[in-house]
Amino acid sequence: MKRAALIVGALIVVCAAAGWLATLSPAVDDWAYAKIATQMVQRHPPVLAKPGELSVLLCGTNAPLPDVHRAGACTLIAAGDDLYVVDAGTGSARNLVMWRVPLAHVKGVFLTHFHSDHIGDLGELRLQTWVAGRRAPLKVYGPPGIEDVVAGFNRAYSHDADYRTAHHSEAFLPREDVDLVPVVVPMSGATAPALSANGLTVTAIKVDHGPVKPAYGYRFDYAGRSVAISGDTSYYEPFARAALGSDVMVHEAQSNKMVAILEHALRAGGYPRPAKIMHDIPTYHTTPVEAARIANLAQAKLLVFSHINPPLPNWIAERAFLEGVSDTRPDGWVLGRDGMLIRLPGQSTAIEQTTID
Ligand SMILES: [Zn+2]
Ligand SMILES: [Zn+2]
Repeated sequence: MKRAALIVGALIVVCAAAGWLATLSPAVDDWAYAKIATQMVQRHPPVLAKPGELSVLLCGTNAPLPDVHRAGACTLIAAGDDLYVVDAGTGSARNLVMWRVPLAHVKGVFLTHFHSDHIGDLGELRLQTWVAGRRAPLKVYGPPGIEDVVAGFNRAYSHDADYRTAHHSEAFLPREDVDLVPVVVPMSGATAPALSANGLTVTAIKVDHGPVKPAYGYRFDYAGRSVAISGDTSYYEPFARAALGSDVMVHEAQSNKMVAILEHALRAGGYPRPAKIMHDIPTYHTTPVEAARIANLAQAKLLVFSHINPPLPNWIAERAFLEGVSDTRPDGWVLGRDGMLIRLPGQSTAIEQTTID
């Protein structure tokens, strides 16, 4: 009996060793990777908006302080098949590629202003839309100064484009299609028309982000639905007037109370330079409660907090960030997160909130 048990035990050990040795074979690795690759390829691109539908995808909800869960400022608007990207903060293009967003359909980019946290991925967006099959230069709309920003990115990435066309062929990656084209949106009053195409109307809205002048928000109207995006701004009631009746308002938000706590911690920890920056920034952003007041003034149906500052590493920080919001606006608001998709079916009042990953 004892001998039989020993034989069985030895057989198990031999089989386990043989199995383990088999996994060391390159052929097994290749077979396993083929399975993984098939699985990756079979993930379908998300449907962002059906024909006649407007939708909002948060492709970056962060402000300049780094947050591993949030890319830099970025909001994608889908009006039927046409895609538009508002701001291209660092990491946002990576999000869009990982989510399999059909980037060949990007028809334009709107920049709210030229702070680095809004343009860090503009070069990557230029590249990824081109590689995905964009067949025309990409228009980039924004305040005066957009010409400098666009010329700089085109120049910085010109060698990269040369290499890729030479490597993959002119037919596959036409060199003439890769560049960004600046479109200045002049502003003399509170709002200015920025674009009208395929039933979509985009209006630039002056906001207050001094010393950054001018700084814009944007309003998108399509199929009887509307989305207003604040860009970076302090509490600014004219933005609410321009966003009146919007279905979704994506508004920046910064807790000045938490920023002050962070400033104190930085100073106490021996970091006077970032402490000085924390000291300076409250004047040109909007608190979550103030953003709720703007949404109320605009009678927006859903307020989405984005451009979140400071970073919120856990639920306690989130609760502190949202302190007082419910008193101002009991419902009709949500803390934005990367990957949040809000769909607005045309000629309807429905607001469908989901997530892509
Ligand atoms: Zn910003
Ligand atoms: Zn800014």
